[in-house]
Amino acid sequence: MPFEILCDNCGNSLYSGIDLKYASNILKLYNGRCKRCGEFLSYRDFVLEIEPLEK
Ligand SMILES: [Zn+2]
Repeated sequence: MPFEILCDNCGNSLYSGIDLKYASNILKLYNGRCKRCGEFLSYRDFVLEIEPLEK
């Protein structure tokens, strides 16, 4: 099951992969900011979506 973390502000995909990651760990990689829109993100702002790969 693929796992994706999206910026709640611009919808940019901050992480996409098969391995389940903690959103807080992903945030550390980007210093808590979206690399696309620069919005500061907190764990609570994240919308986690887990969807089947095939459509
Ligand atoms: Zn963003």
